[in-house]
Formats: sequence, C-alpha cells, structure tokens
Amino acid sequence: MSDCAIKTTCPYCGTGCGVSASIGAQGGVEIAGDPDHPANHGRLCVKGAALAQTLGDEGRLLHPRIGGARASWSDALDHVARRFRQTVERYGPDSVAFYVSGQILTEDYYVANKLMKGFIGSANIDTNSRLCMSSSVAGHRRAFGADIVPGVYEDLETADLVVLVGSNLAWCHPVLFQRLAAAREKRGGKPVVVNIDPRRTATSEIADLHLAIEPGADVALFLGLLRRLAKSPALDRAFVDEHTDGLDQALAAALPWTPGAVARRTGLALADVERFFDLVVSTDRTVTVYSQGVNQSSAGVDKVNAIINCHLVAGRIGKPGRGPFSATGQPNAMGGREVGGLANQLAAHMEIDKPEHRALVQEFWAAPHIPTSAGLKAVDMFRAIGEGRIKAVWIMGTNPVDSLPDADRVAAALSICPFVVVSDVVERTDTSEFAHVLLPAQAWGEKDGMVTNSERCISRQRALRAPAGEAMPDWWAMAAVARRMGFARAFDYSGPAAVFREHAALSGYRNRGLRGFDISALANVSDSDYRAMLPFQWPWRVGEAASATPRRFFADGHFFTDSGRARIVATPFRGLAGRRGERCEFVFNTGRVRDQWHTMTRTGVAARLSQHIAEPFAEINPADAARLGVRPAGLVRLANGRGAVTLRALVTDRQREGSVFAPIHWNDQFASNARIDTLVAPVLDPVSGQPESKGAYVEMTALHPRWFGFALVREKPRVIEADYWALGRADGGWRLELAGFDAVEDWESRARDLLGIGESDDAFVLSARDARGGSYRCVIVRDGVIAGALYVAREPIAVARAWLCELFADPAADPAIMLAGRPGAAASDPGQKICVCFNVGANAIRDAVDGGCRDLAAIGEATTAGTGCGSCRPEIGRLVKQRLAEITLPAAAE
Ligand code: SF4
Repeated sequence: MSDCAIKTTCPYCGTGCGVSASIGAQGGVEIAGDPDHPANHGRLCVKGAALAQTLGDEGRLLHPRIGGARASWSDALDHVARRFRQTVERYGPDSVAFYVSGQILTEDYYVANKLMKGFIGSANIDTNSRLCMSSSVAGHRRAFGADIVPGVYEDLETADLVVLVGSNLAWCHPVLFQRLAAAREKRGGKPVVVNIDPRRTATSEIADLHLAIEPGADVALFLGLLRRLAKSPALDRAFVDEHTDGLDQALAAALPWTPGAVARRTGLALADVERFFDLVVSTDRTVTVYSQGVNQSSAGVDKVNAIINCHLVAGRIGKPGRGPFSATGQPNAMGGREVGGLANQLAAHMEIDKPEHRALVQEFWAAPHIPTSAGLKAVDMFRAIGEGRIKAVWIMGTNPVDSLPDADRVAAALSICPFVVVSDVVERTDTSEFAHVLLPAQAWGEKDGMVTNSERCISRQRALRAPAGEAMPDWWAMAAVARRMGFARAFDYSGPAAVFREHAALSGYRNRGLRGFDISALANVSDSDYRAMLPFQWPWRVGEAASATPRRFFADGHFFTDSGRARIVATPFRGLAGRRGERCEFVFNTGRVRDQWHTMTRTGVAARLSQHIAEPFAEINPADAARLGVRPAGLVRLANGRGAVTLRALVTDRQREGSVFAPIHWNDQFASNARIDTLVAPVLDPVSGQPESKGAYVEMTALHPRWFGFALVREKPRVIEADYWALGRADGGWRLELAGFDAVEDWESRARDLLGIGESDDAFVLSARDARGGSYRCVIVRDGVIAGALYVAREPIAVARAWLCELFADPAADPAIMLAGRPGAAASDPGQKICVCFNVGANAIRDAVDGGCRDLAAIGEATTAGTGCGSCRPEIGRLVKQRLAEITLPAAAE
C-alpha cells in the first residue's frame, strides 16, 4: 500500500468520521480511521471499516439510459432539460419537482436548490432528510430562530449526565457512542447515562437507567421535567429573564404533569420517573441527545422543543458539557440544511417566508424568480405526483419507493408520472424501475465535495478511484441541465470548488451577524486550498482565523430570533396519531440495524456486513408471541390497510408487549416482501411535515410454512422460487434464507434452479434426504468447486450458518463436510457473528464466559472480540450478562 493516504469522510451516518484510504499499486484500497479528524480521532465503526468492500463496479449504473436504452450523456441531458422546460412552460413551475438526499454532497445540493428555487421558480425541492431530521430543524428554528445545533461531540464526553432520547446511538452513530463509552471508562462511570427508548437496545447496555417509555409519550415526560426544573434550584432565573420568552405559557402546559401523571402516561414506574427528574435537576453538566425516536413523530417538533425547553430554563446550553444535541441520521443532512435543500427553506439558512431573505438570495443569484411560499414537502410531493399535479420529477441519490411512508402509493404515483429522472449509483433499485431516464452518479470514493456532520463540522469527501463507467457528479448533471434550460451564466461552474465558493459567499452576503450559518472565510478559497481543506466547524466568518477549539452557540444568550431571545415553546401533550384497532393492535416501530445502511444499495454488497444480521426480522415480545402462536425463528406477517410484509420472528424480552419493531433496510432487491414503509401511515408532524415512522398500528399473524431452507450460491439467483426469501452477500457468493407453503417433491431440481444449473449440465450432486422427517440437504459441485448448497427442513432450519459461510468461502472445501450443515467434533460452530472485524461468533463469546471471562477486556483478550472497530462491544456485554445468568441460575436454584 502507498504511504500517501487520501483523507476523506465516511458516507454513512451523521457522525461524519474521517477516513484515511491508502491505495495500493494494484488499485486495492485499505481503509482506516483518520486519527486527525475531530469527529472520530481514528475510530471507525464496522460500516466505515468495510468501505473498501463496497467499492467496485458490481451492480453499478454505468451509462445514462433513456427508456431503458443506453444513451450518451449529451442526449440524456438534452432530453431531461427539454422535458422539464416543456413541462414548466405548459403547466407552470410548480408542475416539476426535485427529490434529493442527505447522501449527496453540499455542492450537489447547492446547485439543485439554486436551479429549482431561483431559476425554475418553484420551491418544490425536498429531500429524504425530511424523513429523518426535519423535526429537529423546525424545533431549532422555533427555539433559537435558526437551525443550529448548539453543542459539539466533546460535550458528550465532558458531561456528567447524558440523556439519550429515541436514539440507538450504539448502532446508529457507533463512533459517537464509542466516544461516550470510552469517556465513561476513563472517568469511572461518568457521564451517567439515561436511555429513553421503548425498546431495550444495544445502547441500553451502557445505561445506568433505561426508561422503556410507552411509544409517543416523550413530551409528557419532558413536560414533567420542565415542571420540576422550574421549581428547583436548577432554574437559571437570570438566563430565563434576560434571554428567553415564553416560560409562563410553557409552564401552563406543563402544570398537569405531576410525576404521578407522567408515570401513568408513559407507563414508567413512578420511582424511575422521580430518579430521572432528580438526576437532571442535580446535574448541571447535562447533555440530551435525541435522534429519530424523537424526530419521526407526528409530535416530533414538540418533542424537540420539550427537550430544548428543559435546557433553556436551566441555562444549560452552548457551554462545555451542556446542551441539547440532535444526532443527525445522514452523512450530509446538515449540508443540505445549509444550502436550503428543504422545501420550506432558502439557501444559507435563510427563510422563504421572509421578504428580505428572498430579496437577498434573488439578488445574489441574479435569479429571475424566487418562490414566495414553501414548496411541497416529501410526502405531499409524492401525493401531488400521484394526483397528477407534478408531472416531472428528478430523484437523486434516494429510494423513495422503499423509504417514504405508504410506500406502495409512492410506487403507484411514480408509475403514472409522465417524466421520472433517477440519478443513482446502482442500476437496479425499487425506484429506478420507474425511471424514464437513468443518470449514473458517482459513488463514494469517486466523488469530490463537502459534507457536514452533526456537530457542524464540514469535511471533504475525496475521490480515491476513477468513476465507474460514465458516472458523473450530481452537481455537474444539474448544472448541465440548467444550462440547457437557458440559464447558462448562472450555472457555469468550473468544478466543485467554484460551487463551494459561491455557497460560502452567499452565507456571508449581507450577513453582519444576523445569521448563524456563515462560512464566508472560504468565499475566495482557491481550487488547491479547497482540495487540501482540513475539517472545520462553522461558523467561520471572513476575517476570522481558523479555530482549533470547538465552536458552540448560545452560551452568550444571543439567539437568532427577531427579539434576539430564545423561545421556550409551550408543548401540550399529544400521543401517537394512530389508534390501536381490534386487529391492528401492535404499535409498529421502525429503525436501523448495526451493519446496514438505508436500502442497502452499498452495504448490501459487502459480505462482511451481512454476517451479523442477514435477513429482515420482527422483534416481538415473548408474551405476544405466545398468545399469537409465533414461534422463535418462525415467520410472521405484519399487515394493515396499507400493506403487508413477511419477516422472521425474533422473540425477545427487549421488546415491549404490544409493540413490534422491524428494520428499514430490506427491499425487493434483497427480500421477497420486506418493504416495511408500506405499513407506515403518511401521518405528518404539522410543523415539520416529518412522517410518524414509529407509530403505525399493525396486525400480526403467525405463518406456518411447509418448509424452511438455507442456501449458499455462487451467483446471485435470477429467480427464487420460494414464498419467503432473503438474500445476503457471503464471501464467494450469496446466502439465502427460504421458506415455502408448497409441497416440493423434487428438491434437487429446486436446488439446480436456484444455482442456474440445468439437469443436463455437468455437475455432481451430493445429497441426503429424510423423507419422514421432511429434511433434505444437498451440495452441488461443478468443475471441482462447490457451486452451492441447499438445506431444507420442516422447522426453522438449524444449520450452522456462520460455519457454512466460512466453509463456502473456501473453493476447495470438502462437500461431504459441508453436507452435514454442522461442524463435527473437529471444528466448532462460531454462531451468529458478533464481532465481524475478527470473525468472532456468539458461541465463542459464551464459551469464553464459561471459561471464566467476566468482562469486555477479558473477552477481548481471550477471543479478540470487540478489539477492532468496537461496534460489537454493547452486544458482547449483553451476551456476557446473559450467559452469566444462564450459568449461575442452576446453582442458585440448588
Ligand atoms: Fe461511518 Fe460508522 Fe463513523 Fe457513522 S460512525 S460516520 S457509519 S464510520
């Protein structure tokens, strides 16, 4: 590998870790955490560490396509420009829309927003960030007058109390979680951690107090806390009087929320409510971190303000170790906010409903238009497409057919839209099926530009390799279309640095301290300085020196409202918008798993990232499972009036009774029927327009397939003949979970179909069948190499998957050994892979506990588990506790 590493930024979560990529002479890439990046100081989680496995051309969209046929860029751009121009001329500017993404770079976002708002003349540009953090944006703007995260990551390490609300930080922001965990280790258990989440998650493993709150009840808890704080010595009367408005109204809303009322509404024990209140009251250095569990709600903005209120009354904001902190989901959701990528924003944090802001932006862009009112937010945008009001849409770097609520309706809307353009890195997504024009976008490792993380740190993504095929940057495609639409002068950019300079200049344009977002120090950055730019935190105003110390907001009591004072917002309690039905009795919670990202377009190609969890699942409380006859590892159907999905049952007491959880990632490319957003209602927060993605109601039914199967295949199957399937990457091929309701007589031919090996093809089949027991196993060898294996049984198939995958990775493996499906005495079954850095499974960790290991350090020493990226450490902790309980229980019973 070369000594000269390229410094770039991870493309997944909003932690925004710095990545150091070394390119070898043969073009291979080695990934490591960037020790100099302020977000991660050298750490990476498992997704970041596996980035090298996601590079490459497999599945990529390599050329533009019009109507499915390969086209030149020139023809594709002409076509897109002509169709958009004609649509605008015929039906007006609001008949077109852009739907963009927190995955694209700031430069891409800036050009898209400028084209739509300033030149097409509509505000119909929105982003998938609407689905993850728009409630935080709205809450910040209500409280602070601007969308500003006051604090920095370091505050989580220096606080004495960290309250995590609706945030599975361990899996969704793993490096931030590791920083918190490391601080606790170093500071002897400080900060104390409170975890507020209906589910017991990996994050709960670190918590001193886990409050398994009833879904949707967060505002009640924080109203109770506000009431308590206002009566306590923690109230900062001077700060409230000098720098805030609205306390009396907010307290009036909080008045009914005695601890008893809070306990009843939240389902928490009164003692736990009191303990939480006491902890917050008595701890000056408190940080409250919140994420999707807060934002993805029909009361999301109120939840955000209810949290911020508690910080404002105590004056705990913008100071080291104190403040509310929104952990952003996507790598550049923050950058999108900075350029005004939401339908209700203007560029550079300016507001569409302020005439002076509209005039300023229009003047700066020399734009012919500027919309006077907000455009359509994500859910309304696709509703308008379905109703025929929007007739041309450009979707960039996102997969709304899977990720928007009421997802089947989104598919139906796109199917009747007269003109759909999709820019993506991969050829086949559930959304690209509907595209009239497909434009190949550059992927991570190819593109070049800026992203902003959750603590306002702007850093560079840099290219490591040549683009796949004819992939081009999104900003380039947008600018080229703009020029073809007649706006040549305004979109004549020489490269991403030119776009960034304009963005930086606009942030400082007639700013004079009126707007918090200001990076005008970079308005004249040269191309070479742009290329070499180090991570920096905004603001960075013209004339200021670069700052090596963290920049916080609001400690001085200055806010960006018209009065200059913060608003303490009254947040009367509202529960979930949906209602439990006789059949739809389960609250449906959605979220992420540790090793996958969004709809798996990138993480789905890395075998390493399918080792931990390889199929979609529903997390179900044992009492509910017993009542409905759901067996562990069986299948369940979740359904409501909008859709239905089929998932593997994960029966666990980590789930509350009456709730069910499923991950968001799986879609039609990776599973038979797991697009969970088909179940989510398009119910929105009235202020932010963010959907309630964690509060739909569903019916749950146990399914009873005739057979279950597991298969390993070298090639991705073209057709999978099974009622249920889930596909994941394995080293050297693919792994498949299967189940069916049909009676299969000829399993060998089913196996051949799966492998694409015909009856007449020269292949050797080693098989074993137990007709009475209903099981069948076969290993098929072709050209001296194992081409695939199939294992079938009447019950959920109990083969040693991790061991089989390891065996399959070796082309010279013995088919006879593989046929058994389980290791014999000479080998051991590692069990579910927990530590994928060092390939350590759950069984090895349990064995280490049996051998006397009692903590993470001992487990690490004995097995190496948890000593790599560290993403698995919470689960190792849980396994240790679980195993200790198992082995001490019999002794206690004696
Ligand atoms: Fe990437 Fe993991 Fe860092 Fe998030 S925590 S930015 S996914 S390495």
